[in-house]
Amino acid sequence: MIAVAPVGSVPAVALSPLLPVLRETFAAEVVIAPAVPLPAAAYDGRRRQHNSTVLLDVLARARRPGWDRLLGVADVDLFVPELNFVFGEGDPNRGVAVFSLHRLRAEGNGAGELFARRAATEAVHELGHSYGLAHCDDRGCVMWFSNSLAETDRKGPRFCPAHAAELRRLMARP
Ligand SMILES: [Zn+2]
Ligand SMILES: [Zn+2]
Repeated sequence: MIAVAPVGSVPAVALSPLLPVLRETFAAEVVIAPAVPLPAAAYDGRRRQHNSTVLLDVLARARRPGWDRLLGVADVDLFVPELNFVFGEGDPNRGVAVFSLHRLRAEGNGAGELFARRAATEAVHELGHSYGLAHCDDRGCVMWFSNSLAETDRKGPRFCPAHAAELRRLMARP
């Protein structure tokens, strides 16, 4: 079972479009978990961003034994110290992942659909990391390291055949 939790003020209803995609992609039961508070300690006032690793710490503490993975969905700008920003982060050792809706909003026609596809893409990418998948050099694979929305839109939420096979192997491990 994969649990998906709002982090901070994200409404739980914003998470529902993700559930069918995650169910299909990971062939797992997917549930919405209680919201996790946005940790004040994650905020860097100089960068005006939240440290995604600190969010993972909070998610690791909130993870329940019945949850194979816990994915947090935030709506703040995230960073890790060595990068300007990140869309999210996943941790295979603790079985948690996080991504943010903050940089995914689109304007114009079909904005809702595009936004949902971007959210699904980032959710699958970070959950992929949480199962132990590394980055991919296939630009059409969801595990491609995306540095911009253009790259996120190009790759989409699907795994390349090699990563799909590796994910099945990793998920089958006891
Ligand atoms: Zn990545
Ligand atoms: Zn791949």
